Amino acid sequence: GPMPATALSKRSIEDLSQDELANKRVLVRADFNVPLKDGQITDDTRIRATLPTIRYLIDRNAKVILASHLGRPKGKSPETSLAPVAKRLSELLGREVKLAPDVIGDEVTSLVHGMKAGDVVLLENVRWYPEEEKNDPEFAKQLAELAEVYVNDAFGTAHRAHASTAGVAKHLPAVAGFLLHKEIDVMGKALEAPERPFVAIIGGSKVSSKIGVLKNLIDKVDRLVIGGGMIFTFLKAQGLEVGKSLVEDDKLDLARDLMKRAKEKGVEFVLPLDILVAKSITSEVAEDTVDIAAIPADLMGVDVGPLTIDRLKQVLGDAKTVIWNGPMGVFENPAFAEGTRAVAQILADRTAHGAITIVGGGDSVAAVESMGLADKFTHVSTGGGASLEFLEGLELPGVAALSAK
Ligand code: ADP
Ligand code: MG
Repeated sequence: GPMPATALSKRSIEDLSQDELANKRVLVRADFNVPLKDGQITDDTRIRATLPTIRYLIDRNAKVILASHLGRPKGKSPETSLAPVAKRLSELLGREVKLAPDVIGDEVTSLVHGMKAGDVVLLENVRWYPEEEKNDPEFAKQLAELAEVYVNDAFGTAHRAHASTAGVAKHLPAVAGFLLHKEIDVMGKALEAPERPFVAIIGGSKVSSKIGVLKNLIDKVDRLVIGGGMIFTFLKAQGLEVGKSLVEDDKLDLARDLMKRAKEKGVEFVLPLDILVAKSITSEVAEDTVDIAAIPADLMGVDVGPLTIDRLKQVLGDAKTVIWNGPMGVFENPAFAEGTRAVAQILADRTAHGAITIVGGGDSVAAVESMGLADKFTHVSTGGGASLEFLEGLELPGVAALSAK
């Protein structure tokens, strides 16, 4: 298919001239959709991730107008106000961040027209307006009228064609912020011009949720490693007993097709050698570690075994580019987390030896973070759904809408 838009084809914040920024009102779409408990932010990673873009704009005397969604509001509700974000952002920046009373309207307009160079205003929750998710053209135009330049730094929402992620870009010079730029730059290069050997590790729960990723990557990689719950659909497709393991019977043909395609393409298709089997995913211990051809009928596969981990050390040993999506086993249960931990450690080692290592996907990133290994990867994608769609080779509307270089 057509090549999706990447950093190579779109303008980024560093392409803006001093004149395009100084004293200009710059609308920044950020992802401040932070977790809240009793009105307190429990994890401010997403706010911190946007600081480079905000600081860059402040340093260049722009007037910074920030926009984000938060939660799933039904109308203008106080519990979905961005007030906690304004407070936290003020602390992180060491300067006042004014919270606008609304997203659009006369009061907001006069507030932003009163801004001075270096001022920061945070608009209220864009999803207070149902027009946001409908990408309503009139709403997008009103948002655009607040500013003179548009910066999209919300990678996590870039797979949605909403007014503040896509519609607004029609009306203004539109560029990628640092966070969004890094995402599409690192992942785009890996997909388009990888240093080889290029290995993908795809795990997680289901084949069905990764069909697009598997189909896209099988045409690009040298080796494809299968992990997680989807292992068993591939094993069953080869006629093996999978016991009580997670399996998708309606995906057996697809699994066969993928293995056939790998063979035709000369892609090494790497299935586990051994499996930890347990009574349930919540069991405190595994019953046994068995060969993939010897899974007992009354047990389920919950993680990959030590022989597989050794095999993966070989498969990944000379890899120059690795993309990993989906845990190797039921990592939430400490008894079944070893496969996922081992892969994270192997990849950390590859990074130290100069390989490009990328991890994407909500649960995979959570796993790597909980193991304290996130900073050992070249890139940890901040967008769950957005990184999956990117790996599927789909064009992200929020990226497509940006101005061409
Ligand atoms: P990501 O969010 O990184 O894309 P997924 O959502 O596809 O990953 O999959 C993550 C889930 O897969 C985890 O909750 C994990 O427990 C589950 N999983 C991994 N291996 C197995 C398995 N053998 N059986 C059942 N579930 C599994
Ligand atoms: Mg997930």
